[in-house]
Amino acid sequence: MTAQPNLSKQAIPPKSGEPIIKAVDVHKHFGSFHALRGVNMSVQSGEVVVIIGPSGSGKSTFIRTINRLEAHDQGTIVVDGMELKDGQNLDAIRREVGMVFQSFNLFPHLTVLQNVSLAPIRVRKQPKAQAEARAMELLTRVGIEEQAYKYPAQLSGGQQQRVAIARALAMDPKVMLFDEPTSALDPEMIKEVLDVMKGLAGSGMTMLCVTHEMGFAREVADRLVFFDQGNIVEDTTPEQFYNNPQHERAKAFLSKVL
Ligand code: ADP
Ligand code: MG
Repeated sequence: MTAQPNLSKQAIPPKSGEPIIKAVDVHKHFGSFHALRGVNMSVQSGEVVVIIGPSGSGKSTFIRTINRLEAHDQGTIVVDGMELKDGQNLDAIRREVGMVFQSFNLFPHLTVLQNVSLAPIRVRKQPKAQAEARAMELLTRVGIEEQAYKYPAQLSGGQQQRVAIARALAMDPKVMLFDEPTSALDPEMIKEVLDVMKGLAGSGMTMLCVTHEMGFAREVADRLVFFDQGNIVEDTTPEQFYNNPQHERAKAFLSKVL
């Protein structure tokens, strides 16, 4: 598999059955601030959901609750049939959920290859040679195999973000969460990262992406979810959202970003 986008989804089974992510009435407070106010979201296996909304509306907080980088304080979150509750199932869920952040968060003192193979060796107890062979495959998939023996600081931002994607994929996640993965990148590097994400979407990966990249949303999102003030106020197709937003705040948001 290469970094070329493969947008054919025909081989992928229909999106039905139990959702792989199910969030019901999720609340989160930071002190007295009510950051998530009863969020409900179900995601089917293979779905690509793009999350947009104003700054401070709870997008990051919500996706971080899915692998418990933030603990929710009310409601239920079930990932692949396992409920996230009081630390139960935490390791199992984190193994199934990969995450890519705005800041790439690579280990600066490790090479690209070591960054990608570290968790499989340490957490999955894979033999080093096997983990490194798989890491090379993933680096090829994100188009960056020539950089394998370099350190993160020697790479461009777009290359570092592609390493971060390969690193998350190395754990064979069932779901990938992206939190504004291109927001810290120079414009000329955004496309190379979005192309990798498109390829991943085309391969059938379940993805939740916070991004304001409208072209990406239109091209690959099955659903577009708009957050405002700690809740989802629209959950629709990208076409419906762009052509006919229902909520006043969504209209106001679109008039600013388009
Ligand atoms: P978004 O990603 O939509 O911009 P966030 O989920 O990051 O929004 O933040 C939602 C709200 O919660 C913001 O008002 C933010 O200031 C607040 N918040 C987020 N994280 C924390 C935290 N760790 N402590 C206190 N407040 C926080
Ligand atoms: Mg955010």
